[in-house]
Amino acid sequence: METPEQTLRGVLQTIENAAKLAGRPRAVNLLAVSKTRSAGEVRALAAAGQRAFGENYVREGATKAAELADLGLQWHLIGHLQSNKCREAAEVFDWVQSLDRAKLVPALDKARPAGRPPLNILVQVNVDGEASKSGCAPDQVPALADAVAAAPHLRLRGLMAIPAPHPDPARRRDAFGRLRALFVQTAARHPEIDTLSMGMSEDFELAIAEGATLVRIGTALFGPRAVAARD
Ligand SMILES: *Cc1c(COP(=O)(O)O)cnc(C)c1O
Repeated sequence: METPEQTLRGVLQTIENAAKLAGRPRAVNLLAVSKTRSAGEVRALAAAGQRAFGENYVREGATKAAELADLGLQWHLIGHLQSNKCREAAEVFDWVQSLDRAKLVPALDKARPAGRPPLNILVQVNVDGEASKSGCAPDQVPALADAVAAAPHLRLRGLMAIPAPHPDPARRRDAFGRLRALFVQTAARHPEIDTLSMGMSEDFELAIAEGATLVRIGTALFGPRAVAARD
């Protein structure tokens, strides 16, 4: 059995190799997706050096973040955000990667506690049309990005997407490429953005080849998930 440290080192090495192969000047960051994993599993990976963790549900993330508050970890919300959960999300998380509609902008902005740095935001894009229910249409990205950039307690950092897990790698690569083009368009209006979040355990090397700056990895770090997470 590999230790968490060995597993983490292996994944980081694969990321680095893919980034080198793609001739990428900047490092690609790793988000460890800890949904359904215990606080103890997160603690073990944090002890191995991992700082950023992603959760799909606000409640589950809040519980783990509170239990592990002594570690000063960085928490990302990567699951669908309901408007009645905006207050808690703005209190618990450092990043919300799943902003996909205009009404979440004032709700998160108002709820970000005074004294905390601005909440980092990625606009989630549905690059595959009907394949997923979360994410805005590509033509809605400019308006959403402008709204986030104008909110005083939010900080626009870039885009996120979960392309359909198409069995044909060429099709997946195509979706990642379309997302990168959208990122470049968005950066023309908002040159401060620096994060393109795409790629999971199955396809992160492909995503890096197409320009991902942040990959979200669960299974390759923690093993297969047994149970579904609940909000
Ligand atoms: C679960 C999840 C991941 C991680 O998926 P793995 O295949 O376990 O690496 C990444 N991003 C999102 C949005 C997820 O829900």
